[in-house]
Amino acid sequence: MKKHNFNAGPSILPREVIEKTAQAVLDFNGSGLSILEISHRAKDFQPVVDEAIELFKELLNIPEGYSVIFLGGGASLQFCMIPFNFLEKKAAYLNTGVWANKAMKEAKGFGETIEVASSKSANYTFVPKDYVIPTDADYFHITTNNTIYGTEILTDIDSPVPLIADMSSDIFSRPMDVSKYAMIYGGAQKNLAPAGLTFVIVKDELLGKVSRYIPTMLNYTTHIENGSMFNTPPVLPIYSALENLRLLKAQGGLVEVEKNNIAKANLLYNEIDRNPLFVGTAAVEDRSRMNICFVMAPGFESLEADFQKLANERGMVGIKGHRSVGGFRASTYNALPIESVQALVDCMKDFEQLHK
Ligand SMILES: *Cc1c(COP(=O)(O)O)cnc(C)c1O
Repeated sequence: MKKHNFNAGPSILPREVIEKTAQAVLDFNGSGLSILEISHRAKDFQPVVDEAIELFKELLNIPEGYSVIFLGGGASLQFCMIPFNFLEKKAAYLNTGVWANKAMKEAKGFGETIEVASSKSANYTFVPKDYVIPTDADYFHITTNNTIYGTEILTDIDSPVPLIADMSSDIFSRPMDVSKYAMIYGGAQKNLAPAGLTFVIVKDELLGKVSRYIPTMLNYTTHIENGSMFNTPPVLPIYSALENLRLLKAQGGLVEVEKNNIAKANLLYNEIDRNPLFVGTAAVEDRSRMNICFVMAPGFESLEADFQKLANERGMVGIKGHRSVGGFRASTYNALPIESVQALVDCMKDFEQLHK
């Protein structure tokens, strides 16, 4: 049976990317060797890194003065590298969920940490909007897409201090104005590549300003100066990322990608809003296009397991909500075809017929 992969992360990748990766594992560039058994410094591999960086710059329209680097350690390692490299006195954070909290927790070890606003009391179902960013903060940190709660900041906000964004789960989902950010980072395993790769886009003028000693491996400058080759980078996920970036470009770039993502999100949200058995959990104005969260409507709570069962029978994978939230979460990343969203919508409609 065809599977509809709504996993939140690691998550769906385009079939073409998986096939190209499999081919490179068997025989990289017709070299007779697997990509798994060559040096990251091999003359064949350097062009992979170079082209991936070029495509980051091209697809995201990254202005001059920014570096793109590929690291290990996940977004979670960035939670500590950011304050290590940039927090001298004070940092500001917007608390929009678990990931934002984890980022803020690390900063506390390095200096004063200000939580400018939080939606915790509403279980992070919205993104706070009325807040003041302290103008004496070294940076302001946001999480643009809150993977667990299905909220998203879809505008590139203006910040009076350097803006740093965790875009683990919505990078490459829409065109954006990189010039509004001092740094953008994320784990690649949601919308770009297999697990193991972390991307960092950082404005060069932000670097070298803190007075503390930064261990070599945790210093962004090390990785910029060495072209992400100070130590062995995650070779295979970088290769998959390259294939995915080539595909995004062939699809017409992020303008086209965004149209597709809007169509998918509208299809599912419209059904959630129409179907009396279900209700969306995120505030309408903050609804994510990448992670769509919903629960059984009041009075129908006892049907949750039945719906899960029907969805399983129809090949839906990964629609169970995060353990801290419950209900359902359909992740609709770039690679998810609209046919899969339609299949879920059909499932919801049929379930309504069975139970109304
Ligand atoms: C998944 C996720 C993370 C954690 O990423 P790791 O690469 O596992 O450290 C951080 N932030 C957001 C928004 C995420 O979705």
